[in-house]
Amino acid sequence: MQDAEHFDVVIVGAGFAGLYLLHRLRGQGMSAVALEAADGVGGTWYWNRYPGARCDVESMQYSYSFDEELQQEWRWSERFATQPEILRYANHVADRFDLRRDIRFNTRVSGAEFDAGRDRWTVRTEQGGTFTGRFCVMATGCLSSTRLPEFPGLESFRGKTYHTGQWPHGGVDFTGQRVGVVGTGSSAIQAIPVIAEQAEHLFVFQRTPNFSIPAHNRPIDEAYERSWKDRYAERRQQARQMRTGIDYPINQASALELEKAERDRVYEERWQLGSTSFMAAFSDLITDRAANETAAEFVRRKIRSLVHDPAVAELLCPDNHPIGTKRICVDTGYYQTFNRDNVTLVNLREGGIEAITPTGLRTAKAEYELDSIVFATGFDAMTGTLLAMDIRGSGGRTLAEAWEAGPVTYLGLMVAGFPNLFTVTGPGSPSVLSNMIVSIEQHVEWITDAMAYLRRQGLTRIEATEQAQEDWVRHANEVAHRTLYPQANSWYMGVNIPGKPQVFMPYIGGVGTYRQICEEVAAEGYRGFALSGASSAAAAE
Ligand code: FAD
Ligand code: NAP
Repeated sequence: MQDAEHFDVVIVGAGFAGLYLLHRLRGQGMSAVALEAADGVGGTWYWNRYPGARCDVESMQYSYSFDEELQQEWRWSERFATQPEILRYANHVADRFDLRRDIRFNTRVSGAEFDAGRDRWTVRTEQGGTFTGRFCVMATGCLSSTRLPEFPGLESFRGKTYHTGQWPHGGVDFTGQRVGVVGTGSSAIQAIPVIAEQAEHLFVFQRTPNFSIPAHNRPIDEAYERSWKDRYAERRQQARQMRTGIDYPINQASALELEKAERDRVYEERWQLGSTSFMAAFSDLITDRAANETAAEFVRRKIRSLVHDPAVAELLCPDNHPIGTKRICVDTGYYQTFNRDNVTLVNLREGGIEAITPTGLRTAKAEYELDSIVFATGFDAMTGTLLAMDIRGSGGRTLAEAWEAGPVTYLGLMVAGFPNLFTVTGPGSPSVLSNMIVSIEQHVEWITDAMAYLRRQGLTRIEATEQAQEDWVRHANEVAHRTLYPQANSWYMGVNIPGKPQVFMPYIGGVGTYRQICEEVAAEGYRGFALSGASSAAAAE
């Protein structure tokens, strides 16, 4: 048993959230440590090294805004940065602000417990370490627990298996191999075109087709870079007020106001613009099923025009959810990949995967000989990583107990009964529906400001009240159910994990609106939070 180490704040995770937390807390003169399971920084971009991995928010926006010199000096090479480039950026930030000395790598947190007598958290690691902090911040990411379905026979497979979210650091050479990719979500859609170029033959095992919009990626030229950097402060401010935290043009008109030809002209413009801004083509695409269907049908027509074999094209056309209600995918040549002779689309709706065999994979319809299988089967999103730890609040109540019927939070920042424990981009905040770096910065600033406020007031405890939490959960649900989102069997709803309670987890009210609410709450002396001081002995610690 190692001696406990004491800090003002214990941070779990050293992705973009953990890194900024460390930097900001230092600036406030607070002592902090970040505990990180990996042997490097970067979080998502450390783990997801699969071929083709890149961001789907433009690099000029998918980056920190908190430091003017950093944003002016760092140079992105492509409109949508690759995973290696984003990881280099995370490492650059860690070095630039000298953050590594306060990060403990190869350190996985197993549990955390609140000591109500001293208003402190005790955080334990699998490596036997104990860390205490007045505050504990879970910067553990929303997409950091990979999900591998339990396929019978998996251990018997004689080839190699990979999960996109735990990709080997040295890369994988698929040359000359028969490769199977299971899944057709965002990760698969990025990986498939790249693997297809290398593999002898690629089998894509699809259960549910997804909507994907072309990235139209390209190198960043000087003029484009200047168009951002000359007005960075203004454009970042604009992004912070947008629903998605991304500065792109929004059309306030309804899709149903226009004749079909005119409407399609708007969609075509958006298609050419590329990326997630497609969903901002009209204002009612996520609230009105008929409006949504016009966009969905436009994309289906695109798929039919891009894929030569009509039967394959039809299989690739999404048919069971409104467009955008599952995270819209962004691709480079995805649909065109199915025109290659060495790519076969396998429709799992005709019969799912029955087993992995020693030599490949068997569906209800056929058997496939494979050298490697890539599982692009996603994550136990938003709650999986938090619930993997034994987190105990007041009275020893576990987070698992508090969230038995699904995650409940106040503002996605705190959970009633878990004083001094914060979550960054937690369920109940815009989080995964947004440009996550914008949401991370907003949360980190709010959380560290709250800590500074408590310190100034000589207080030692902050806790969401049950009433405020109940009101927020009700509001978040009401807003979600005004949209089409809950209609999809998505990971936003927890549907991809057997037994997971099905609630719409992120807050869909919009990044700008949410920011305003958080600011008002703080300005009103942290409305909905109970603030208190500990005994003078504990406060003096
Ligand atoms: P993470 O980056 O997930 O970091 C969390 C860290 O916590 C990890 O390093 C993990 O190892 C560590 N950790 C977790 N549990 C423990 C524990 N028990 N003990 C110790 N350490 C622990 N968002 C966008 O906005 N735009 C995009 O284009 C985009 N692309 C993405 C592509 C992929 C493939 C994925 C998976 C996600 C993408 N995201 C994107 C979302 C992305 O997760 C966020 O943008 C952002 O990187 C999250 O940063 P974070 O620091 O909050 O969490
Ligand atoms: P995902 O969207 O959850 O996709 C998982 C895929 O695996 C789905 O196609 C799913 O099919 C399939 N699957 C799961 N279990 C299966 C089974 N038993 N048999 C057959 N198929 C199965 O996961 P992801 O692609 O990793 O993406 C997760 C999120 O990460 C994204 O939504 C996005 O937020 C983020 N991301 C972003 C980017 C980017 O563009 N920057 C890239 C990658 C990831 P069903 O749909 O039928 O369940």
